[in-house]
Amino acid sequence: MLGIELICSDPACAEVKEAAVFSLEELERLTCDGCGCTLETLNVWEIVEMRATRRADDLRRAA
Ligand SMILES: [Zn+2]
Repeated sequence: MLGIELICSDPACAEVKEAAVFSLEELERLTCDGCGCTLETLNVWEIVEMRATRRADDLRRAA
């Protein structure tokens, strides 16, 4: 999973938005909430799924 920071490509709007997507194709379908313009990517980072790790620890403790 990827975390992304986006900015509206319309300089008059310039709304910044953060989103989480599973693929870069999904990222390309995102548009600005304010004006519907396309978005430009400012930052991309990988989201590590913490929940899966924690659940594995719980199972180990119960066994
Ligand atoms: Zn916009």
